This record gives sequence, structure tokens and C-alpha cells, in this order.
Amino acid sequence: MANSKFEYVKQFEQPDQLLPNTWVVVRIDGRGFTKFSSKYQFEKPNDKRALDLMNAAARAVMTELPDITIAYGVSDEYSFVFHKTCTLFERRASKLVSTIVSTFTAYYVHLWSTYFTDSPLSPPLPSFDGRAVCYPSVQNLRDYMSWRQVDCHINNLYNTTFWALIQLGGIDATEAEKSLKGTFSADKNEILFSKFSINYNNEPEIFKKGSVVFRDYEPVEPGTHNVAHEVENLAEPATQSKSQSEKDKKRRAKAAIVVEHLDIIKDEFWDRRPWLLS
Ligand code: ATP
Ligand code: ATP
Ligand code: MG
Ligand code: MG
Ligand code: MG
Ligand code: MG
Ligand code: MG
Repeated sequence: MANSKFEYVKQFEQPDQLLPNTWVVVRIDGRGFTKFSSKYQFEKPNDKRALDLMNAAARAVMTELPDITIAYGVSDEYSFVFHKTCTLFERRASKLVSTIVSTFTAYYVHLWSTYFTDSPLSPPLPSFDGRAVCYPSVQNLRDYMSWRQVDCHINNLYNTTFWALIQLGGIDATEAEKSLKGTFSADKNEILFSKFSINYNNEPEIFKKGSVVFRDYEPVEPGTHNVAHEVENLAEPATQSKSQSEKDKKRRAKAAIVVEHLDIIKDEFWDRRPWLLS
């Protein structure tokens, strides 16, 4: 590379490497989506097209970045989890965050017309912010995921009741807000049921639980040769040769990426998919 008298400016760049051996979570969030969702007349409280579009963009991000283990999305936000051994971009935070944000945004715009067939995008176009946070233990990471899913639940119960009061109860937003002030979950469930015959438990899972995106390997019987069996071997990195880890990387990249609406707070989800956190 040519040396020039200008090259010293490179030294102004600050290192931003994330702590090694920690789970890196990049969370992105739609900028000004309160306004954006009203511009495109998102159905309240939950526009299914908008959620499907978020999920499709997240799936595309995971396809392009095989280092992402799992992702969780709700409303206008998505959290992408990089495995703790990930060395992509030497773990530089700005590189990781900006790549996720721009890849996600590009797909969100590209796929928009598939989900919003009769309302073409016009400026101001959708954009997302992003941040990276390191979680040192599996427990911290699981608590992070639980935190987001609890948030989904609390917001969705509130919003479902709030919009039922307006759309079905015929009161305005100020009155609805007033009648929900100081209420607990049980009260909201009761309002929904007694006033509107809505059983909150029967609301769509995608609204209640958000969306979890991961590479799917079917758990299998020991001795059966398939992807899932081989993936279990990933749990023994010490004995893994270079070519083995290359193969694993390829296999990971090939595995189907699924979007589900499952409980990620309880152990069951993780116990059934031990490769996610190993
Ligand atoms: P900021 O730029 O600070 O994030 P924001 O307006 O995006 O501001 P958020 O707290 O991120 O604020 O809230 C997201 C907004 O987008 C909420 O008002 C929410 O109702 C709306 N929204 C997001 N997804 C959907 C959806 N699928 N259906 C209906 N509304 C949605
Ligand atoms: P990285 O992901 O690390 O940035 P890269 O392949 O994008 O990898 P850069 O150092 O960013 O590497 O280099 C950009 C590349 O794109 C160069 O090969 C450059 O020649 C090519 N390129 C960019 N803009 C143009 C252009 N307008 N015309 C022709 N080639 C271009
Ligand atoms: Mg925000
Ligand atoms: Mg937002
Ligand atoms: Mg948000
Ligand atoms: Mg360049
Ligand atoms: Mg480049």
C-alpha cells in the first residue's frame, strides 16, 4: 500500500473490539415507527404484514450472516445474537452493528411491496438504529432474551386492551388510557373478557410471544446420520479439526432458518435445542 503524508489520520480511528468470549447481542429498532406506522396505516395494535416483513428481513440477515445463532423480534425491534466464539470483523462493534443495520434495512425496503402490496414506500424511508451489548454468561443472555419477551407480553396485553376499549368500546384514547391506569395484568384480562368476550390466551402467538428465528436441526435418535446428529458434535470444539469446523460452518449456513413464536423464557425451548447455546 502506498504511503502518503496523509496516512497518519488512520491513527485517529479508535479500537472498538467487543469483549472476547461473550455473547454479542445487536439490537436494532425502527426510527420513529410511531409516525411511520400511522403513515402506512398499520392495523392497531398489531399489523401482521408489518411483523411478517420484520421477520422476513431478519431471516435474510441470518442467511447472510451465519455467525448469528438466534434472533428475537417484537414490534419494530430485532435482537441478533452472535455466538460467543464469533470472530467476524475481529468483533469490532461498529462493523457488526452497521452491517446488521444496513443489511436489515436493505431487505426491509426490498421486501416492503411483498407485504404492503397497495402502499408503495415514499420518503422519509424506514430506517433503524442499532447497538451492541456483550453478555458474559449464558444466564445473562437468557435473561436478556427473557427481558425482551416479557416486554412483548406486557406491551401486547396493554395494547390489546387499549385498542379494544377504543375500537370495540367506542371510547377515545385519553379515556382508554385513564381506565387502564394502575391496572394489573389480571385486570386487563378481565376487561377484555367481561367487556369484549376476548380471551387473551386465544390471541395469535405471534402477537403474544414475538418471533424467534433460528437454524433448525431436528433432534434425532443416537446413531442416526443426519444434520442434527452432526451438530451435536459441535459441542466438542476441543477435538474439532480445522476442516471439521469448516464443514460445520457450511452445514450451519445450509440449515433451514425458521421463524417460530415460542416461549423462550422457560427452559424447554433451550433444552430441546442444546446446539444454540453450546
Ligand atoms: P424511536 O425512534 O425512539 O424508536 P418509535 O416511534 O419507533 O421511536 P418505539 O418505542 O420503537 O418508538 O415504538 C414502536 C412504534 O411502532 C409503536 O408505536 C408501535 O405501536 C409501532 N409498531 C411497530 N410495529 C407495529 C406493528 N406490527 N403493528 C402496529 N404498530 C406497530
Ligand atoms: P470489505 O467488506 O472489507 O469492505 P471490500 O471488497 O468492499 O471488502 P474495500 O476495501 O471496501 O473492499 O474496497 C472496495 C472495492 O470495491 C474495491 O475493490 C474497489 O475497487 C471496488 N469499487 C468500489 N467502488 C467502485 C467503483 N465505483 N467502480 C469500480 N470499482 C469500485
Ligand atoms: Mg429506539
Ligand atoms: Mg422504534
Ligand atoms: Mg421499538
Ligand atoms: Mg471500501
Ligand atoms: Mg468495502
